[in-house]
Amino acid sequence: MFRNFLLKMFPRSLWVYHANSGGCNGCDIEVLNVLTPYYDAERFGIKLVASPRHADVMLCQGPAMRSTAAALKRAYEAMPSPKIVFAIGSCACGGGIWHDLYNVIGPIERIVPVSYYIPGCPPRPEAILYGVALAMGLVDKKVIPTNLKQEELPIPRYHPEDLIQQESMPVYKKLEKV
Ligand code: SF4
Repeated sequence: MFRNFLLKMFPRSLWVYHANSGGCNGCDIEVLNVLTPYYDAERFGIKLVASPRHADVMLCQGPAMRSTAAALKRAYEAMPSPKIVFAIGSCACGGGIWHDLYNVIGPIERIVPVSYYIPGCPPRPEAILYGVALAMGLVDKKVIPTNLKQEELPIPRYHPEDLIQQESMPVYKKLEKV
C-alpha cells in the first residue's frame, strides 16, 4: 500500500541528495558507485542533485553526530515535500560501531524521520540499488521479514584485578561469564 502511495507521490524520476553526517566514507563510496555507469542508477530515473532544495530523497550515511546534527536537520528541512529519507549503512541505521562515542548522538532517526533502512558496513551497491528500487515498487521483494534474536555471549574482560600469577608469569584468570 505504501508502495502505491510512493508511486503516486513520485511518478517520475527520483532526484536524490547525498548527505554524510559523519560516516567513515565507506558507505559514500558505495553510494557513488551506484551512480557510476557500471551500476547505472539513472536507468531507474535516479539522479543525483547538488542541493537538498531540488531533491525528493535524501540518502544519508554515517551516524548522527553532535557536530553535524543541525546541518543535517537544515538540509532535511530545505527539501520540498513530499520527501523520503533512506538510512544507508549500519551507522545511519543504528549508530554502528560509533554508537556510544561521546560525540555521537546515535542513529540518524534521532534527527530526521527515516522511511527506509539499508543496513551493512558498508552495504554493497547492489543492496543500495535493490533497496531504493524496492521502495519505489520497481522490483519485487525477494526475502521474507525475519525476527533476529540477540544471543548472549560471554565477553572476556581484561582488568588488572583479573591477573593471577602462574609459574612466574602473570596471566589473566579464566572467567566463566562476565
Ligand atoms: S556503516 Fe561502516 S562503512 Fe558505512 S559509514 Fe559506518 S563504519 Fe563506515
